[in-house]
Amino acid sequence: MTIYPQLIMDALKKVRYPGTGKDIVEMGMVEDNIRIDGMNVTFSLLFDKPNDPFIRSVVKAAETAIQTYIGPEVNIKNNITVKAKQLARPEPDKLLPQVKNIIAVSSGKGGVGKSTVAANLAVALARLGYKVGLLDADIFGPSQPKMFHLEEARPCMVEVDGRELIEPAENYGVKMLSIGFFVNKGDAVLWRGAMASNALKQLIGDANWGELDYFLIDLPPGTSDIHLTLVQTLAITGAVVVSTPQEVALADARKGISMFTGEKVNVPVLGLVENMAWFTPAELPNNKYYLFGKEGCKRLAEELNVPLLGQIPIVQSICEGGDQGKPVALDPDSITGAAFRDLAENVVEQVRLRNENLAPTQRVHVTKK
Ligand code: ADP
Repeated sequence: MTIYPQLIMDALKKVRYPGTGKDIVEMGMVEDNIRIDGMNVTFSLLFDKPNDPFIRSVVKAAETAIQTYIGPEVNIKNNITVKAKQLARPEPDKLLPQVKNIIAVSSGKGGVGKSTVAANLAVALARLGYKVGLLDADIFGPSQPKMFHLEEARPCMVEVDGRELIEPAENYGVKMLSIGFFVNKGDAVLWRGAMASNALKQLIGDANWGELDYFLIDLPPGTSDIHLTLVQTLAITGAVVVSTPQEVALADARKGISMFTGEKVNVPVLGLVENMAWFTPAELPNNKYYLFGKEGCKRLAEELNVPLLGQIPIVQSICEGGDQGKPVALDPDSITGAAFRDLAENVVEQVRLRNENLAPTQRVHVTKK
């Protein structure tokens, strides 16, 4: 049997896109890149949005149609690439022209470990060899100075090309500025609204960040006008949403995700991080206790069609590392360090897919240690 592109197109005409009821060829969803090599067939399907809820069902239906109408011997499983139309790379940011990727780290509610994840992700990215900056924009509890053992740092001014700029503090290969450097402890919470937004704009635009591969922003929890200001000010590459598997946290994470994907904000969600996924006591390393419920974030990720970027266990060293200013990601051989290294690698991969206009992949590797 010989397979022709037209045979493939005819089979694909039998597949309807559930959102409109029209067939996927008529809708222009089949890219003009069908490749046939013996029984091996590859091509791409184009979707409007990277989080289109019908991606998986349409791909499955296309595979089935080809094997039903042409023959079961056609090798098509996992050969269809999914691309999204609305994924044009954001314009290089005017405020941060030397920064390649801007990542917002957020959570629906406080206390789920957003700042811990942001700090360890920054360190893990730096250990992978990337140039990394971190802006602590958590006005309600700026904790990065402590996590980076930089509580005493007082960023000074430097002159760069005739401009006076704030020089970020630096530790563990990460450049860092925090709203906490500029307000007294306890006063931060008074810095709401416009005042906080202006201060943050200054920490972004008037700081000597230099060339960076990844610029992470540790956002305040929930949704606020600070989020809106930042997304209006910066071309954010994507958001990483942190949650625990507990129902109340998941409900808020869901709200956070819909804020990012909503029309007003429209920032792609790179994926979810399940923090405090389980507890393993040091004396029983094979036991896992699901204190906040099992795999809640995994289910939410599947339901919302966003990748699960990592699962981080509850470990005493993570908490101590935060308090002592030594993030656990500094030791990639520890179980927790490996979990953060895997998270960093998954973030890098999702950013690459975004930048190449490919849809996010669900098949993200999660630490198995
Ligand atoms: P958020 O930024 O969401 O408010 P934090 O990162 O400040 O949360 O974390 C809240 C507390 O929980 C901190 O004391 C932190 O050290 C601790 N913590 C966070 N993640 C873990 C974890 N995986 N294991 C143990 N303790 C953790």
